[in-house]
Amino acid sequence: YAYLIHASGNISHIFSLIPAIAANSVNPDTIFANNEMSLRDTEIYGFDYDYTLAFYSRNLHTLIFNIARDILITNHRYPEGLLNYEYIPNFAVRGLHYDVQKALLMKIDAFHYIQLGTVYRGLHPVPDEEVIAMYDGCHVPLENMSDFYGKSSHGHTMKQFMDIFSLPEMSLLSCVNDFFMRHNIDYEPVHLYKDVKEAIRDVHVKGIMYRAVEADIEKYICYGEQSHAVLKKLSEHGKKMFLITNSPFDFVDRGMNYIVGKDWQDLFDVVIVQADKPGFFNDRRKPFRRVTDKGALLWDRIHKLEKGKIYKQGNLYEFLRLTGWTGSKVLYFGDHIYSDLADLTLKHGWRTGAIIPELRKEIKIMNTEQYVHMMAWLQALTGLIEQMQVHRDPASQAVVEEWIRERETKDIFNPQFGSLFRTYHNPTYFSRRLSRFADIYMASISCLLNYDFQHTFFPRRTPLQHESPFWPEHSPAGISVTSQLNMAF
Ligand SMILES: [Mg+2]
Repeated sequence: YAYLIHASGNISHIFSLIPAIAANSVNPDTIFANNEMSLRDTEIYGFDYDYTLAFYSRNLHTLIFNIARDILITNHRYPEGLLNYEYIPNFAVRGLHYDVQKALLMKIDAFHYIQLGTVYRGLHPVPDEEVIAMYDGCHVPLENMSDFYGKSSHGHTMKQFMDIFSLPEMSLLSCVNDFFMRHNIDYEPVHLYKDVKEAIRDVHVKGIMYRAVEADIEKYICYGEQSHAVLKKLSEHGKKMFLITNSPFDFVDRGMNYIVGKDWQDLFDVVIVQADKPGFFNDRRKPFRRVTDKGALLWDRIHKLEKGKIYKQGNLYEFLRLTGWTGSKVLYFGDHIYSDLADLTLKHGWRTGAIIPELRKEIKIMNTEQYVHMMAWLQALTGLIEQMQVHRDPASQAVVEEWIRERETKDIFNPQFGSLFRTYHNPTYFSRRLSRFADIYMASISCLLNYDFQHTFFPRRTPLQHESPFWPEHSPAGISVTSQLNMAF
């Protein structure tokens, strides 16, 4: 026991060595590679629109929340008391799972395990013992997990929120759950989930959001000039460009007018609106249809996709046939890892780039001295636990238990759910799928401005588990934890 206490006391002086690595910070404008990829081979650049070319301010989430909340009250007869709730900007993070039957929002890791401490009913965490009792442990069986696109259809009880637009949806679900619990109202979680989903969908489908954004574009769209700079650079280098978006033409046109200017269509060789992704990538039956500037639909059969014209719907098979843009010379950017990128990677062999705006904030935190300290401490602590666990007497075990609790670090990123990319000690489910479906990922399209078109992105060669069989015996500054312990004796 004394040995353990002694060990933990001495380890803390590793901290004096840390400033040396603090300087080694990550640039938030870096493009990260999961898979080696060279821009030298990329001739054609494709883009999603929302949150890829057009980045929205937090005002949009507040707007979506408020309209959907009011739809619940007026159309679905939910209690007026809900008016007391407002959008909570930093409540949820993207990629969380929601148990539709149990009304619980939670974070799940790459191995389908629920991260304890991140299970929320309404706005409050559920105690670990209760979670373990409900799920018979922490594992969620594959058949209950969300489907391939993150949906909760066909008997899957979990839904995964992958869209940036789903932040207000998670917030609203949690607020309504909170209201019902606070007032001891008996309600059916499945109905609640469906009603909220429908209300949020109405905000989009009935055009309420589109009209609001069009009416006050400066309030909602940010960093437009950076997207413009990227598109201009690509066009100056003779790259082909296209747009495939689920949004309607009017909305995209207003936004692109703001971001690029009146002649934005000159930059794009093909523009597809209301594409209905992910169906677009899978359903061969849907033909392209011409839309005029005034929004009228034409009935003629489409034999080629022409620059300066707008097309609606269609499908990727037809797109490939008409353009000949196949395989790895095409790079497509989108923010939705499933409906923008998954099918392209798995079926069609285009290169893919994921836009993850959250990266910027997380990297900034990772660059703080506090975080660097914490990581060094965690590594050291984990090494200690691994070595010291063999001391099985109760007093030593109590110390080890204490260290194990100390390893849990989520609140530095988000007090409720932590990082988008990691649970305490594993990658998240989100991370796992990101690394499978995206060749490269970055905080925003503007990161492309830092690279020339000859650049090759190389993934870091991180060791596989069997390639680095021991805990890093060497602290970042090169002094080993074990040798420090030895020094202490
Ligand atoms: Mg998008």
